[in-house]
This record gives sequence, structure tokens and C-alpha cells, in this order.
Amino acid sequence: MLKTPLMQQYLDLKASQPGKILLFQMGDFFETFFEDAETVSRVLGIALTSRELDRETGEPVPLAGFPVHALDGYLMRLVRAGFRVAICEQTEDPAKARRLVRREVTEVVTPGTVIGGQALGEGETALLASICIRNDRAGMAFCDLSCGEVEAVELPRTQAEAELSRRLPRELLVPEGMEEIPPGQHSVTHLEPWKFDEGVLEPVARRRLGVATVSGLGMEGSPALAGALAALLGYVEDVKRTLTSSLRFKGVYRLEDHMVIDRQSAIALDLVESPFSDRESTLAWATDRTVTPQGGRLWRRWLLEPPADPRETAARHGAVGELASREDLETLRRALSGCCDMGRQAGRLSTLKSGPRDLRTISATAAKMPGIASALKGSVSPILAGLAGMDTLDDIAAEIDRVIMADPPVRPGDGGTIADGVSAELDEYRAIRSGGRDMLAEMEAKERSVTGIPRLTIGYNRVFGYYIEIPRNMSDRVPASYRRRQTLAGSERYSTPELEELERKMQRADQEIARLECSLFEELTARLAGNTDRLRTAGENLAILDCLCGLASLAAEKGWCRPSIEEGPILCIEGGRHPVLDAALPAGECVPNPVRLDQDRTILIVTGPNMAGKSTYLRMAAQLLVLAQAGSFVPAESMTFSPADRLFTRIGSSDRISRGQSTFLVEMADAAVMLNSSTRRSVAVIDEIGRGTSTYDGLAIAWAMLEHIHSHPVHRPLTLFATHYHELTVLGSRLERAANLSVTVRESAGRVVFLYRVEEGAADRSYGIHVAMMAGVPSEVVARATRVLADLEGGSSARLAQPSPQLDLPLARPEQPVLETIRMLDPDTLTARQALDLVYELRRMLDGI
Ligand code: ADP
Ligand code: MG
Repeated sequence: MLKTPLMQQYLDLKASQPGKILLFQMGDFFETFFEDAETVSRVLGIALTSRELDRETGEPVPLAGFPVHALDGYLMRLVRAGFRVAICEQTEDPAKARRLVRREVTEVVTPGTVIGGQALGEGETALLASICIRNDRAGMAFCDLSCGEVEAVELPRTQAEAELSRRLPRELLVPEGMEEIPPGQHSVTHLEPWKFDEGVLEPVARRRLGVATVSGLGMEGSPALAGALAALLGYVEDVKRTLTSSLRFKGVYRLEDHMVIDRQSAIALDLVESPFSDRESTLAWATDRTVTPQGGRLWRRWLLEPPADPRETAARHGAVGELASREDLETLRRALSGCCDMGRQAGRLSTLKSGPRDLRTISATAAKMPGIASALKGSVSPILAGLAGMDTLDDIAAEIDRVIMADPPVRPGDGGTIADGVSAELDEYRAIRSGGRDMLAEMEAKERSVTGIPRLTIGYNRVFGYYIEIPRNMSDRVPASYRRRQTLAGSERYSTPELEELERKMQRADQEIARLECSLFEELTARLAGNTDRLRTAGENLAILDCLCGLASLAAEKGWCRPSIEEGPILCIEGGRHPVLDAALPAGECVPNPVRLDQDRTILIVTGPNMAGKSTYLRMAAQLLVLAQAGSFVPAESMTFSPADRLFTRIGSSDRISRGQSTFLVEMADAAVMLNSSTRRSVAVIDEIGRGTSTYDGLAIAWAMLEHIHSHPVHRPLTLFATHYHELTVLGSRLERAANLSVTVRESAGRVVFLYRVEEGAADRSYGIHVAMMAGVPSEVVARATRVLADLEGGSSARLAQPSPQLDLPLARPEQPVLETIRMLDPDTLTARQALDLVYELRRMLDGI
């Protein structure tokens, strides 16, 4: 064998981790070799060097590495850049290794399995997902490893993609050979198909979820669910070897448990940021008053998953109201603001990654909990009363504070970790250590007097250890028993047998102290890891309280109102303001508007010129509904709503044209979902549908859709519909449960003034021309436009308005475009050549029909 044993060890480990970058610990460094080294040096911008020659090829081996303590930061950058990284550590003490140090892959980090540290931002959640299809059912499991929480869901196969895009996992586990892998932003990891077998679940669930049997997990008769969960747990076990305590299974959730807001809607309604929008323009940002990272993550979750159960929503309203009226609300929030990310700490603890400082962080937060809990005593709100009785982790905090020193180092072996009085053995070595220091001082004094050299000193350096230093010019007074060790410019350094003996004793003590501190620390973390679940619950409780306090602070400061909940369907808002616009504009400048939708009025058709405020009005209604159902008070004079089962949106291409999703097909796919799956409890927000195609297609489709959602016995959502097709206002008066609204503009001193006021009734037919006039378009053009408009009205639209059942859409007549083209032309301005071209063009159009 030509390779060094070390290189052979590396190559074996590397081969066991295909497709991953292997970080290979060598002492205080993680090294990478060959191609990995080239990748790592390019991605991380660190130097590429070469080590010894490869004995086989005679080539130098490319090498790049970084210090062990810098792992977190570099890891984050590698994972963010899309790489999978295997961390291979020395798993035996190099001092004790007889030959080659033992090394093992202790952890694999993939996009969906990053844990805490710098590798995952505070507000971020990295979800790992798995999918398993059985017949026409899709089972999916999700895991947030940073907190150690697992959930699962079962759906019709056709809905899997939508749910994945809603949950937005970073990594998706699929069985090898799976056809039609759901598309999305996640990276895909293929696993052997048997890992998705139902039968695999039992043993892995026992190990990883700490359950005695799988019968309590709610997976009976759901092979798809069981398969997805089995694969997920198995994968976690593979990549996180150090995971000791169990993950928490939060259960199988159902989409019906909350208002379903698909990813597209969340983005289109500006609920959360997206690659297309800034954070500051989102509802999540404008309403986030939480003071802890975990509270912030929970608030986003509340906002994106408002509960379907009105009792839950009402309970939150009650708590927010009660907190808002408390005088000490800000004191409570200040106490919360010092609390750590308990969920993530629990995650670190469960993988035994906690350092001494992490434990102290936990105990510092636990120390605040009794005060927080007792402040809630006597609360009327059941949620708050429940939180008053929360587990305040007293015993855990006491244990940590007893064992760990107040201001410990980052790593347990660095000294000063374990408190005095914990271990008699440790205390004894510490006494030797400090006794040694006293003895050194005594020795120095003694040697001075024996030699009669007053400038004799005892010093220490890393290479030579302890030495006696004597100025050069005094060398003749040095006793014969001194042994010279080093000569410097102005002095000589010596040692003596006594000094060496003392040094050995102190070194032994140092080693023993480090060893004892490490092992005592490990014992403590292992003991505490058994309480991971209590930490998780404590973290959740603090996060819930943080969310509620944040909402209360918002409500109190801004004078928001408490919405009331009715059986419905109903969505009635008086004086509603767009929350984000309201926060961005100077006080009083956001124009309040009403929304009135109920069983007898299910469709609002909003017309008005461009920039009048139609889209803003629609978003205001949707955002207030989401806020209210999530448990918040709202920026309105009053609001009554019924819980929505799902929010549908179709925001037309005009508003999203720059956002790369303007195709007509996408528009129609969204429309199809709405037409097929909405109920009377749904709310639909449709803005400028039909822009992605020719005028008449678009108008015809919008028309038919409105009729459908108006009259369908089931698919009849409460609908807000903004349009530039004035023709549709006909429906507002013709359909029994539809109403027209318009957003008004006025002229003032020759300029267009937008009033942003939404009024009952259709906008004036010629508002567009009006605006053109106000904006200073030449009067000939305005006059001509008025004539064209009159022609158009005399033709198609007049017939449209007839309430004839057979003739709902005369616009759909095939020769319509030809007639339209003729109607639009002005014969006086045509040249002979243009006229001839036009005849050919018209003939071509007719032939195409
Ligand atoms: P439209 O959809 O009718 O073209 P938008 O809803 O996009 O118009 O509104 C255009 C701009 O008008 C918004 O960006 C906002 O600045 C302003 N605006 C809209 N509604 C209001 C309102 N209620 N109060 C104050 N300003 C508003
Ligand atoms: Mg608009």
C-alpha cells in the first residue's frame, strides 16, 4: 500500500459519504482534501495549499482547512451554498491513541438539518420534509431539527405540492425511483425505497420519539403517513449521530385545523416576505412586536395558520385584551425580552451540543420564569391563567447554577467551568494548583536569598515550562545545582530538580482539572438532556406569551379594536385601515374604508381608475381577516367576521408583471383551484383577473367566473373582485348577491387627486377618460376617445347588459375581433397602402376563425 495510513483513513471515510464534502478533523483544524479542498477554498475564500505528496501519483495533495472553533460560520456558508457536509471528528484522545487516531463521521449537515448556531438565523426555520405516496394518498412528515419537533399530514396526492409550497421545506426526502417529484425550492434527497416501508416505523419511532408503541401516533390505516414518518426519523438518525434524547412528535395535523393560506396567497397579499418583496412591506413585519426569537417564529406561524376553531381565536382575543389593559404590560415584555431561545437550547441539548455558556443561558432564563408566571396569577383569560401555572424549570436552573460557574468559558475543557464544591476531587486538584502557585512564590524568595541575586525571577513559557531567570552579569553567582536551559540576550534561564518536580505536579493537576471538568460537564448535560421536553414546553409557553404581549402592545398603542366572531359567513369591517400602509404613512393619512360581505352579499366588484386604491382595498380586507382570525386586534372601528376555512387569491399580472409569474396559464390554474375547492366559508380576493390574455378572453372568463361563484351551491366564497373591465359592473347590478363599489378620484386645480375612498355603486363609465383629461392629455385625443367609447358602448356592452339567459356573452362571438378592429379604425387617416394591408389582415383573421 502506497498511501499513508492517515490518507487511507481519509479515503475510506470519504467514500462512505458520497456527494458530501468531508471535513476531516486533524487536531485543532478541519481539513479538506482533493476536490473538496478546491470547492471549499473557492466557496469560503480560504487558501488552497498542498500537503505531502500523494505517494501513488507523486502529485501534491490539495488541502484547505480552518480552525475547529470556526466551524459554525464556515458550515453555514457551505450549507447556504447548497452543499452537504459530513463532519468527521477525532473520537479518541490523540494523546492516548497508540497509532492512528480514531475518526468518525459524527454529523451530516444538509439544507434541512442545520441546527442552531450561526448556521441558522434566529427568525429562520429550516424544515426537513419527507413524502410517501400510497395509492392516491400522500403522507408527509416535517421536522424542525433546531427545536426537535416533528409533525405529519396526510392528503390527497394532488394536494401534496400545494402543502409543500406552503410549508416551504429546505430539503425533501423521496424514495429512489419516485416519479413526479414535487417541484419547489427544496433540495431533493433520494433514499432507498425500503426506508419508506410502514414496518420500519415501529423501531425507529421507539428510538427517536421515545414512544413505547406506534399505536398512539394516529397512523393506523395510513401507510403513506407511516412511511413518510419512518423515512424522516431514519434519516435524522443517520445524519445526527449525537442525538440522544427523543424528538417531540406534535401529531398529525389536518388542513382543516386552520385557515389555509397557500404560499402564492401569502406572497400576493403581502403577509410574508418573498424574493419579490421587501420585508418592510409585509404584514408579518408590521405586526411583529415579539421580543424573543422563538416568539417571532411563532407569530409568523400564527399569522400563516390562523386557527379554524373560533374558540381558539376568541381565547387569544381575550388574552390580548386583558394584557392590553394591564399597566405592567411593558414590564412583562421587558422580562420576556431577556429570555433565551429555549426551543433551540433544547435542540442543542438533545444533540449534546450545549456548551457551558448555553447551560448558563438556560438557567438565566429559567430564573426569570417564576416572576413571569406569578405576574399572570389571577388572570381571567384561560390562556393566561394556564400560563400562570407553567413549569418554571426551578430544579433545572438550580442544578445548572450549582454545577456551572457564573461566567464559564465557551468550551468545558478551558477551565473555570465547574463550580467549587461540586466534586471533592476537583477541589483537591484546584488546591494543588493554587498551592503550587504559592510554592513558586516561596521558591523564588528562597532562591533569591540563597544565591544573593535580588533580580532572580521564576517565569513560565510554553516551550520550556517553568524556569529561573538570572541576569547575565550575575551568572558567576549561579549555584552548581542549576542546570542551564536557555540563553537570552541579557539573561540566562535555569531549572532545578525541585522546580521540575513542582512543575510536574502542577501539570498533572491541570490535566486532571480539565479532565474532571469535561467529564462532570458531560454528566450534567446527559442528565439535563432527559429534560429536553420540559425545556421545549417552557420555550413554547414563553413564545405564546411573547406573541400575546406583542399583540396587546400593538392594540394598546394604536387603539386597535377587538373583532367579534359570528357564525356567518360574514366579513364586515367599518373604518378598516391597511395595516402596513397605516404604519408607513403619517398618522391619519391612510384612508379608512368599510367592507360589507355576508350571506346576502357575497361578491363585491370594485372598479376605479389605475392607482385609485383598488388593490390596497382588497389587501386591507384580506389582511384584517388574517390578523383577526390569528388572534390579533385590528386597525378598524369595528369588525365582525366568521372564521374562514381558506383564503384564495388571484392577483392579476398587472400588479405582478415584474414578478415573473404573469402567464395566463398560472392565472387560470389559480382560478381553477378556487372554482373547484372553495366553500361558503372561504374568502376569495381576485384582483385584475384576465390581464394575461386578450381583452375578450379575459373579460369572458372573469364574467363566467363571477357567475359561477355567485350561484354555485358549494363553491360560493365571500369575494372581493377588483377589475378594470367596466363591463363587469353589469353583473354587480344583475346578480342578486353581488354589489358594485368604486374608488373615487377628484380633480383639483387641474390635477388628479386620489381620494382612496371606496363608495357604493359602479364607477363612472368614462373614469379612464376623465383621468386622461385631468392629467392633461390633448383635448383632440380626449374627444376621440369619447367617441370610440360611445361606439364600443353602442355595440358590445349594450348587448351585454341585456339580461337574456341565452345571450349571456355575445362577446364570445368568433368574428368579434374582426368587427372590433373595423370599429376602432379612423378611415380618414389611412393611407392607401395601410388600407390594403388591413384588408389582408382582416381576411387573415376571418380565415383563422
Ligand atoms: P389600484 O390597484 O387601484 O391601481 P393601488 O391599490 O395599487 O391602486 O394603490 C395605489 C397607491 O395609492 C398605493 O400604493 C398607496 O400609496 C395609495 N393608497 C391606496 N389606498 C390608500 C388608502 N386607503 N389610503 C392612503 N393611500 C392609499
Ligand atoms: Mg391594482
